[in-house]
Amino acid sequence: MKRISRCGIGLLSFWVGAQRRGLVAVALGGAVFAGSCAAPGSGGDEEGGVRYEVVATVGMLADPLREILSGVEGVVVTQLIGEGVDPHGHTPTRQDVIALQRANLVFYNGLLLEGRMGDVLARTGGGSRPTYAVAEEVVGRGGWRGAERFREGDPHLWMDVSAWVVAVDVLADVLAGFDPDHEETIRGNAREYQEGLSDLDAYARTAVGSIPEAQRVLITAHDAFHYFGAAYGLEVHGIQGVSTESESGLRDLEALVSMVVERRIPAVFPETSVSDRSVRALQEGARARGHEVVIGGRLFSDSMGQPGTYSGTYVGMIDHNVTIIARALGGDVPERGFQGRLEP
Ligand SMILES: [Zn+2]
Repeated sequence: MKRISRCGIGLLSFWVGAQRRGLVAVALGGAVFAGSCAAPGSGGDEEGGVRYEVVATVGMLADPLREILSGVEGVVVTQLIGEGVDPHGHTPTRQDVIALQRANLVFYNGLLLEGRMGDVLARTGGGSRPTYAVAEEVVGRGGWRGAERFREGDPHLWMDVSAWVVAVDVLADVLAGFDPDHEETIRGNAREYQEGLSDLDAYARTAVGSIPEAQRVLITAHDAFHYFGAAYGLEVHGIQGVSTESESGLRDLEALVSMVVERRIPAVFPETSVSDRSVRALQEGARARGHEVVIGGRLFSDSMGQPGTYSGTYVGMIDHNVTIIARALGGDVPERGFQGRLEP
């Protein structure tokens, strides 16, 4: 995975240089993918036509890409892994492979989030088109709140909104370099979107800060909330590991049951893209020892809500999580969340 990201960044500088020298199509079009990396507007640029296609693996990248590209005509953004699907265990489909082969730019999270997708990205992306591991680039750039608590092998950076502000910089830099004629719009959109993210980040801090201190403990189905906890001040425990591919051990579960009972933790949280079996087992275990722990609302961890809904956006996803967590753990939050848009 690392190799691809470096290749992507290397390709970018090569791309910019080659573009200046007018060499793009020759230099980047491999035998199989000839022309798919052609500069935007260099072919098929009739009124209303598609100038280029951007492919992203997950919604947490596709949604910001759409925001940044708003008003830039002739660009198609395709998301490969849909709502409710666990990216750790996603097996690439034939459509994924076709979309990747057709893409002019490919963005993925990296840090091994897209488990089995890695091979396909290497096969279709590596040598022939700019391919970017966005979270890996965010780690490299730094400048986000939880950066000092970066954890090797944990891909869930989007949970820290300040990290995703940096991710928007990464996306905007690539897009502006690829489509220089629309740089002004791209940069303007990115700045505006980042301002909204900063407001969301402030809301998350206030909301979590309103939870009584002893109850700032977040227990979820899998270990996706480390950066969330680091950014907003919660102690975090995932019943399963960082990847949903790992099973939770019985001993781990019993240790968590003891903790929930002893500390009288009021709620635990299932996730939309992960089986809630382990969360239910935890609840049963606590009940058997005389402590009733509520199953909090389902959190969006590695997958957003339905397309076209508020929780189907990155902002809505985080708002949903923050508001549900804060409320279930005894915090004080507005009924409909950060700007009153949360679905009841
Ligand atoms: Zn995950």
